[in-house]
Amino acid sequence: MVAILKNAIWFFAFFILQQALISFAAEDTYAEKRRQMIEQDIRGRGIKDPVVLRVMGAVPRHSFVNASLRSRAYADHPLPIGEGQTISQPYVVALMTEALRLRQGDRVLEIGTGSGYQAAVLAGIVKEVYTIEIRKTLAGRAEKTLVDQGYRNVKVKFGDGYFGWEEYAPFDAIIITAAANHIPPSLIRQLKENGRLIVPLGSTVYYQMLTLATKRKGELEVEQLSPVAFVPMVGEMRK
Ligand code: SAH
Repeated sequence: MVAILKNAIWFFAFFILQQALISFAAEDTYAEKRRQMIEQDIRGRGIKDPVVLRVMGAVPRHSFVNASLRSRAYADHPLPIGEGQTISQPYVVALMTEALRLRQGDRVLEIGTGSGYQAAVLAGIVKEVYTIEIRKTLAGRAEKTLVDQGYRNVKVKFGDGYFGWEEYAPFDAIIITAAANHIPPSLIRQLKENGRLIVPLGSTVYYQMLTLATKRKGELEVEQLSPVAFVPMVGEMRK
């Protein structure tokens, strides 16, 4: 009896060790893929902000996609996240984040939580992140992923981002990660003076121009960065 018990304990201990080794090996593979992503697709394509490079080199992008897509999580293209929506490609996440010229103490609003990946990148840089998602399932899943990954400075809300988040306004920066054909007036109001807003602006069906707007004396100064293709912003934007 004692012998059986001993064997069982050994077997169990061996099993735990084996599982731990397998999972360390997987984490290692992801870390290596993440390093390659930073060198080739982020730094390699002109992103220079050391904070963006460091944070994107640390956020486990594979944890924000379905298990079946994890091996492709670090490739430079968008991936499906369910409900016809996508997690943006790493380079575009980097480009938008860098353009916002964030500072540590900033409070940032994101419209279009999706997987929660962009919110996690922001949360690694600034003090407070507020993110709104119009699809309930995605909002719930992103919130869970962010909590599981230990992000304590992100608040997720299920709702239409068109109206912003009055309760926590004004924001130092606003990032819209769905295609818009105009900038929602509430978001302009909820942006601080000298605050930055980035949005894929143009047709919601084809391509858009990544547009950076800075609020100066209540007016937006606009700069066009690069053509992009995002899924459309729905809800009030379409009315
Ligand atoms: N930033 C996300 C990707 C965004 S995909 C990430 O890192 O994974 C665009 C998201 O915007 C989708 O999840 C879509 O449901 C959401 N969306 C579309 N219209 C919206 C609206 N009016 N308010 C809030 N979210 C919206």
